[in-house]
Amino acid sequence: ARDVIESYRDTEKIKLYERAIKRAVESLGREVRIMEFCGGHTHAIMKYGIDQLLEGYVRFIHGPGCPVCVLPTGRVDMAIELARNPEVILCTYGDVLRVPGSQRKSLLNVRAEGGDVRMLYSCLDALRIAEENPSKQVIFFAIGFETTTPQTAVLLMKAKERGLKNLTVVSNHVITPAAIQHILNAPEIREIGKVRIDAFIGPGHVSVIIGSKPYEYFAEEFLKPVVISGFEPLDIMQSVYMIVRQLREKRAQVEVQYTRFVSREGNVKAQKLVAEVFELRKEFEWRGLGVVPYSSLKIKKDYAQYDAERRFLVSLPPPKEHPACICPKVIRGVAVPTECKLFGTVCTPSNPIGSCMVSSEGACAAYYKYRHGG
Ligand code: SF4
Repeated sequence: ARDVIESYRDTEKIKLYERAIKRAVESLGREVRIMEFCGGHTHAIMKYGIDQLLEGYVRFIHGPGCPVCVLPTGRVDMAIELARNPEVILCTYGDVLRVPGSQRKSLLNVRAEGGDVRMLYSCLDALRIAEENPSKQVIFFAIGFETTTPQTAVLLMKAKERGLKNLTVVSNHVITPAAIQHILNAPEIREIGKVRIDAFIGPGHVSVIIGSKPYEYFAEEFLKPVVISGFEPLDIMQSVYMIVRQLREKRAQVEVQYTRFVSREGNVKAQKLVAEVFELRKEFEWRGLGVVPYSSLKIKKDYAQYDAERRFLVSLPPPKEHPACICPKVIRGVAVPTECKLFGTVCTPSNPIGSCMVSSEGACAAYYKYRHGG
């Protein structure tokens, strides 16, 4: 396995792609602007210095593909409020615990104050916690793109099978194609410095589940090339080359670079699991993007008794953002983290002010780690 990974880090091949990309961009006569949707790609680009390697030729615009980053403050407040209930055990994935809500407090603070907040590696652990604590209400605060949704679907199906009465889920699962469409429709987002986003590097892990087919619409409707990429440096260089080649040939198609895992149809079995339990939510707010229609999933009526949003109504004052945090702009790709006054001084990974510094996939965390000596 190590040999395979090393082959995707081959310096000579990377140099070949560098030369080919630069030649192709020169023939276009202008810098090419590519949005990498997924936070995993942002990290790989920064880690391997691909942005520096292609500086002046390709500008990478970091997209909103980090599930913790796009969770709006109102939802963080909801998790905190639920966790403060002494009858509740609130379970979620690690990074969510550190995101500050309106009062600058996070789930970690709630835990320090005595709340029962648990970090899960697999959401299926919530089944065991519910069975071991029959007098408590166990709530799984679910976040993630299409990659993690099938597992939450399995959790809900198993809870129903076992007839658990004390396990519910808050669904914050979001959908990638709806967000890309929103970005392409919003003038402020798509025209950065009056130059539109030329193309997208499509998310790798999400596409393993949904396949490449859902992106075909963007390529056709908005005339934007989409290349679904792997996460190694050679993957990304090859994807950039595939994009630049499309631009040079005046094509706008969906191509898959990550063919070792992504097919056109995706993982049909996982898609069926999701369809059994979830349906589209009419509106959902994303941090940075605002309300995006049909961009998230809610739990179907058949599973209503496992839907925490139906079982535990939480009414909260309107959320408050930190006035100096520019996370929303970073998420939209209209600002880079270093433009934030708090970056690297007040806001660091050990003391995150905004969600983009919390998550390992956040753009601020990537800049801190790879450009700030963090
Ligand atoms: Fe927000 Fe911190 Fe990023 Fe600034 S550096 S935008 S405060 S997360």
